[in-house]
Amino acid sequence: MNDDSLFCELYREIEKLPVIDCHEHILGPKEVVSKREPIASLISGYIQSDLLSAGISQKELDILNDDSIDTEKKWEIFERFWKRIQFTAYAKVTKIIMKDIYGEESISLESLLRIKDKVLQPTKETYDSLLDKANIKLILSDILWDLGTLKRFIEGNLSYYSKIKFLFSLPQFHNNVRSYDFVQRVGSLLNRHITSLDDYLELVYELIKRAKEKGVVGIKDQSAYTRSLDYGLVTRYEAESLFNRILSDPRNSLGWPEAKPLDDFLFHRFMGFARELKLPVQVHTGHMAGIRNKIEKTNAVLLSNILELYQDVNFDLFHGNWPYMGEILFLGKNYPNVYIDFCWVNIIDPIYSEELYCRTLLTVPHTKVNGFGGDYFDVPEYIVSHLKIARENMTRALVKLIRMGWIDEYSAIEIAKSWLFENPKRLFNLEV
Ligand SMILES: [Zn+2]
Repeated sequence: MNDDSLFCELYREIEKLPVIDCHEHILGPKEVVSKREPIASLISGYIQSDLLSAGISQKELDILNDDSIDTEKKWEIFERFWKRIQFTAYAKVTKIIMKDIYGEESISLESLLRIKDKVLQPTKETYDSLLDKANIKLILSDILWDLGTLKRFIEGNLSYYSKIKFLFSLPQFHNNVRSYDFVQRVGSLLNRHITSLDDYLELVYELIKRAKEKGVVGIKDQSAYTRSLDYGLVTRYEAESLFNRILSDPRNSLGWPEAKPLDDFLFHRFMGFARELKLPVQVHTGHMAGIRNKIEKTNAVLLSNILELYQDVNFDLFHGNWPYMGEILFLGKNYPNVYIDFCWVNIIDPIYSEELYCRTLLTVPHTKVNGFGGDYFDVPEYIVSHLKIARENMTRALVKLIRMGWIDEYSAIEIAKSWLFENPKRLFNLEV
């Protein structure tokens, strides 16, 4: 059997396996009224970052994103930049959508005009059919960052898709604590007026506890976009002095990095809450969406003191820590409480992902790897197309290990099943 037929055979088996999607930003189906224009729909995902990287201006991007502008009018701009990005993995997702969803082999003005009247909308029908076909059983979603949405959720007034389990979105509760107004806005979620650091800590504990009672399965933090993952151990005196400065006069505010000791202190306390409430913590590590930003502040290795201190808390470290593969392998290998999560990385860098699947198997217990997360907003066709790439990366890795004589085909399928389903099910205590 050559590699291709082994690949096809294994892929077919892996395609049948159930999937727990470990990371999205969705509430589920929407009532949709306005029609979507093909180019706007086909660049709804991370591909926008590649377009920006290729030099598109914000004004041109706004034109492409505008559903009210005709495809013919946008085509010249789109074609110019599509030519530059057509070989990236983000562009591959668009190609898969074009082929698998709309049956079009190529992206041209003609094919875009042909799909004009059948552009998908994120309706319940779309979600149901796409997720069922892809065998996605459950989705872990991080969308409760909007305080209004969180309030509705803990009051039991938020309606959402049956396949979704939420995470408690943590960043703002430490990273935004810079002003009196913000602190009181958080207090208002439970009709409390905050008068001290203790009041604030008690409030956040209560919010997480109530969210858990309503079904939240973990905590999620993506502060690495705005700060370093290096959370220092700070004395209460130092943190409280900063907190009191904003409470003592509503006109005061803290800047950055002035607020860092308070932020660090709060994060440590919240990890203590995670331990008490027995909630695993998902952390954004590695690559960031958009363009520019500083990658070195996102390296998971900066979390070492957190991982070492909170040994009873399980950490699900995101995005394969791209591009820091060695560090994530070390953390997964040496820390019993570290899980390696492949969400998003499968389309950031398929070859990195293939290599990471291979190397985790040789270095880290395979029960500590969560194999897939789409990391998209309201675009179910992107989720399933991303999953296709993840399954391919995984299959190539497993074929390689079979060829090395490291595993047999039966084990390969068992491993894939644990990556895609069993491990997240156990880690997040899910009933599927
Ligand atoms: Zn995300």
